Amino acid sequence: MTRQIEHVDVLIAGSGPSGTSTALHLVQHDPAWAQRILVVDKAVHPREKLCGGGVTHLGTDILARLGLRFEPRHFLVREVCLVYEDKVFTFKGNPAFRVTRRDEFDHWLVQQAEARGVTVRQGEAILDIAVEDEQVVVTTEKRTIHARVVVAADGSRSFIRRRLKWDDDSRVARLLEVLTPEDARRQVEFRDGLAIFDFTPMRDGLQGYYWDFPSYVQGESFMNRGVFDSRARPERDKADLPGVLGRSLAERERDLQAYQLKGHPIRWFHKDGRFSRPRVLLVGDAAGADPLMGEGISFALGYGQVAAGAIVDAFARQDFSFATYRDRLLAMPLFRHLWRRTQAARIAYRLNYPWLVRLGWRAMRLALRFTRWRDRDYQPGVAPRLWLEAES
Ligand SMILES: Cc1cc2nc3c(=O)[nH]c(=O)nc-3n(C[C@H](O)[C@H](O)[C@H](O)COP(=O)(O)OP(=O)(O)OC[C@H]3O[C@@H](n4cnc5c(N)ncnc54)[C@H](O)[C@@H]3O)c2cc1C
Repeated sequence: MTRQIEHVDVLIAGSGPSGTSTALHLVQHDPAWAQRILVVDKAVHPREKLCGGGVTHLGTDILARLGLRFEPRHFLVREVCLVYEDKVFTFKGNPAFRVTRRDEFDHWLVQQAEARGVTVRQGEAILDIAVEDEQVVVTTEKRTIHARVVVAADGSRSFIRRRLKWDDDSRVARLLEVLTPEDARRQVEFRDGLAIFDFTPMRDGLQGYYWDFPSYVQGESFMNRGVFDSRARPERDKADLPGVLGRSLAERERDLQAYQLKGHPIRWFHKDGRFSRPRVLLVGDAAGADPLMGEGISFALGYGQVAAGAIVDAFARQDFSFATYRDRLLAMPLFRHLWRRTQAARIAYRLNYPWLVRLGWRAMRLALRFTRWRDRDYQPGVAPRLWLEAES
């Protein structure tokens, strides 16, 4: 059987937030881009994506600049509670962040791209990729695509990274998650819009925290609970994640055995990482997210903005080397902030004596004063310029 060959200017591999953000930013630049982009995903939306679904002002502001109001169903977290042993520190926001379900959020983003004329092929996995001088040849389950540029938006286990033998030593964080059904009327987290980040399991070797995010799944109240292990200090022994999660749940009178346990990694960001090669750009988790708190959605949306700018420029100059893509990323305050989180994670998760953790934890409270969270009245999406404008 002869395979159908399609020609396209930009092939976006993956329709998570990084992929759709790249498409939406291209179309925002010029609606004519819609006809020059093809998005391909192996999944069909609404598809499941393991995730806490926490979206901070960093992401909401990017959506606002795309002209998008946060429409998918979500829970408004108005108060964040940071815990370490008997020490508790809370801060408030308007909201502090939103908790969405990724099947609904990602589907909504895809619908926004489609509404602007972008073709999104779903249920079609990419099986092979070969980079040539004048094009990239991509083989999917259904066809062969000749693209002038490929954007790898295919997540932390990026097939494209692996297939192209991306030569760096990027690290991954480990995460486990369960959803527990809850009676929203009885729980303070639901009543007051409270999310908890509990760093106490650092005592057990966890390089991260346990979380409780109130959320709604198909309108029903569930607590999204999980553990984040950054592995920012990879030379240390790995914590027993199911054990840590089981103990944290037991403290909250929940039995881990009663729930479906799921895990997935997040690749983390390093400013010296390799983010591009001629004709290929990495975005989102394929490129790297935050090893301090495990935030990835906002950065995935941010990568889309930078990648779109790099692509527009590449076609204008007919130079597809993408040699300045890393500089473009680091010119954006959002990604300099991400790099600071990587540095902070390396320090924070080095602390293995309780007194040192307490000290570091106090420093984190102080550091928060230099972020948007210092202002409890700040409304995400209303004054979004600060993080998003590249500096020349
Ligand atoms: C347990 C857990 C909890 C998390 N909690 C949060 C949180 O609360 N807040 C937050 O900001 N971040 C969180 N994250 C991180 C966040 O989920 C990611 O950073 C985010 O999903 C990255 O988006 P992306 O578009 O790069 O990749 P993804 O969302 O992973 O999308 C990749 C897409 O590529 C497609 N794909 C993969 N391979 C192929 C292929 N071969 N062919 C075609 N398509 C392919 C997939 O089907 C998928 O749709 C969490 C992660 C985990 C694991």
